Amino acid sequence: MAKTSLLPRGFKANAERTALEFRKKLEIEAHDPLCGFKLAEHLSIPVYSPEEFFSPGTDMNDLVGTKLKDNGWSALTMVTGTNKKIIIHNHLHAPTRQQSNLMHELAHVICDHKHPETHRNIALPFFMRDYDKQHEEEAIYLGSALQITREGLIWALKKRMEIAEIAEHYNASTAMVTLRINSTGVKKQLSYLGL
Ligand SMILES: [Zn+2]
Repeated sequence: MAKTSLLPRGFKANAERTALEFRKKLEIEAHDPLCGFKLAEHLSIPVYSPEEFFSPGTDMNDLVGTKLKDNGWSALTMVTGTNKKIIIHNHLHAPTRQQSNLMHELAHVICDHKHPETHRNIALPFFMRDYDKQHEEEAIYLGSALQITREGLIWALKKRMEIAEIAEHYNASTAMVTLRINSTGVKKQLSYLGL
């Protein structure tokens, strides 16, 4: 049975447009790599490592530190007391993963997703709170589109670039390139064009 998507109608097309718009604003081409740190700066979202953000010796620092060490924690978006959004990310992850982590969090910000206050009626520490499933799916799609635009993917495939080369060009993992190829259906489009 095919996995049913929770994405609203038109979401994918909008996400692809959004990814192109940001590149335009930052004066780069659709097929150029876009750095997550630069996009965060453009959106005025400060990005911190947990060490920069939490004072050493605090409970929070210990908690996040433990999660960092087991490599399971990627990034989170937080709203500060002054209502500013900030991102705290795992600076120990590979650069390619840092990029996708950041793009994912920025996608939540761009979509203006809100964290549910409680999760199954249990108040969780903020870093353990999940977005609901639909919002998560939206951030996965938009985040990956921000990293590799559909047009940029077609550009690369037309140049007969290998998956690894495309990954390197976009500072992305090969898994991300494969995900984009599959979720955008670009191969079908290219074979239709006889390419
Ligand atoms: Zn998420």
